[in-house]
Amino acid sequence: MDREVRVRFAPSPTGPLHIGGVRTALYNYLFARHNGGKMLLRIEDTDSNRFVPGAEDYIIESLKWLGIKIDEGVGHGGENGPYRQSERRDIYRKYVKQLLDADRAYIAFDTPEELEAARAATPNFQYDASTRGSMRNSLTMPADEVKRLIDSGEKYVVRFKIEPGRAVVVDDLLRGKVTIKSDILDDKVLYKSADDLPTYHLANIVDDHLMGISHVIRGEEWLPSAPLHVLLYEAFGWTDTMPHFVHLPLLLKPDGKGKLSKRDGDRLGFPVFPLEWHDPQSGNISTGYRESGYLPEAVINFLALLGWNPGDDTEIMSIDELIEKFSFEHCSRAGAKFAYEKGKWFNHHYLQELDDAKLAEMFKPVLREHGVNPDDFSDEYITKVVGMVKGRINFVKDLWDQAAFFFSAPTTYDPKAIKKRWSAETPAIMNELIDQLQALPDFSSAASEQPILDWINANGYHMGNVMNAFRLAVVGECKGPHMFDITELLGRDETISRIRTAIDRIKSDEPTV
Ligand code: GLU
Repeated sequence: MDREVRVRFAPSPTGPLHIGGVRTALYNYLFARHNGGKMLLRIEDTDSNRFVPGAEDYIIESLKWLGIKIDEGVGHGGENGPYRQSERRDIYRKYVKQLLDADRAYIAFDTPEELEAARAATPNFQYDASTRGSMRNSLTMPADEVKRLIDSGEKYVVRFKIEPGRAVVVDDLLRGKVTIKSDILDDKVLYKSADDLPTYHLANIVDDHLMGISHVIRGEEWLPSAPLHVLLYEAFGWTDTMPHFVHLPLLLKPDGKGKLSKRDGDRLGFPVFPLEWHDPQSGNISTGYRESGYLPEAVINFLALLGWNPGDDTEIMSIDELIEKFSFEHCSRAGAKFAYEKGKWFNHHYLQELDDAKLAEMFKPVLREHGVNPDDFSDEYITKVVGMVKGRINFVKDLWDQAAFFFSAPTTYDPKAIKKRWSAETPAIMNELIDQLQALPDFSSAASEQPILDWINANGYHMGNVMNAFRLAVVGECKGPHMFDITELLGRDETISRIRTAIDRIKSDEPTV
């Protein structure tokens, strides 16, 4: 790398950050860290019509939650600020003037109605070299008239004067050299006097230059703007420090072609936003990965592999490993299907890696939601429960389905299991089992299992039926971890009391033993 790597994530605060935007931020971050460079956060808020309150804070919080660390930018400070474009008006004005003075841009007064009329009169009308001569602008009007209109407060825009007949080359690290003819470009608006703000194109280029950006890594939807950006660098005389471009492929729908949308998430039941979003206008709430129970490590690992691989089939990678392995060499140019089920798989994995005590803490709010006061149980107890059942969960909330019986005795019993495992003889056998359990000198799993199995065998009972009836009585259904691990944790009194309750409550009509 011949120059210091400096990348930027440059979202517009027009709503919650979409998961595709998160991936863009992640690839910027991985690339910067891999190369010992810096990552900037710039807020591109020059389109005041699309500004959404709260969106900026949402972006900052999302990146923080995910562990994408910003070195410079909004909310983080730095020497190249301000990093919010709406606070950089003076800077942009100066560069707009530079282009006007160099005759690379011009002032245009055409009203929306006049533009509409031009579009109606000329098929495929484009404001460019072929049409600008017949429009109301500083190229067709006398200088004193232009000045008079500006002084009188007439609204105007500044347009970039695209030179026709040029081959414009965008050198993209993923796509190679993409060449287009300048004739297809229109004279893009760079500045609007109405709000004294530049448009995205000008602000983006000026800031990338002033902030020393070495690589522009962004979504593929910005590829069509890149030729214009190249021409702007040229017009400013900045070609030597023009950043490298990387246009990342789209995230596609999980079940078909086309771009991933919020509707896909609603339809198939997965979040498309990192955090829950409360829309200030509609009041609608959209779910987020955080609130849906995903760990940030899982989201990072999952997103990293949507469009990149480490060169082999390694899937589980921490953020440090991702940083170490990341390069554009193994980035795909094709869109990546948003295989959200895989996201659950990653979450399962990262939940297993958590310390049981930590997982127990995360489980406490879930217990409360289900009417269980976690303070009624020791931390050691909850930690042991979690350790026993965590292998079966994708989300912390799933712990409840797996472990509810550890916190309250069953009140109902699975009818199918009753039918299969609870015969007319079962109550008598369960009473004998109670005696056996009472008599055990040591109630631990290791010490209690063999004597109970021996008792079943010695009496010629059906192992499966007895053990499953035992389980049904204690758990309420025929599922759960190893039976004697359960009883060890519940303790002798609770185990026996549950068997007694079951004998009382379960009525069988068909003998099966
Ligand atoms: N403000 C643009 C966005 O919202 C930035 C595009 C770019 O990175 O150049 O994504």
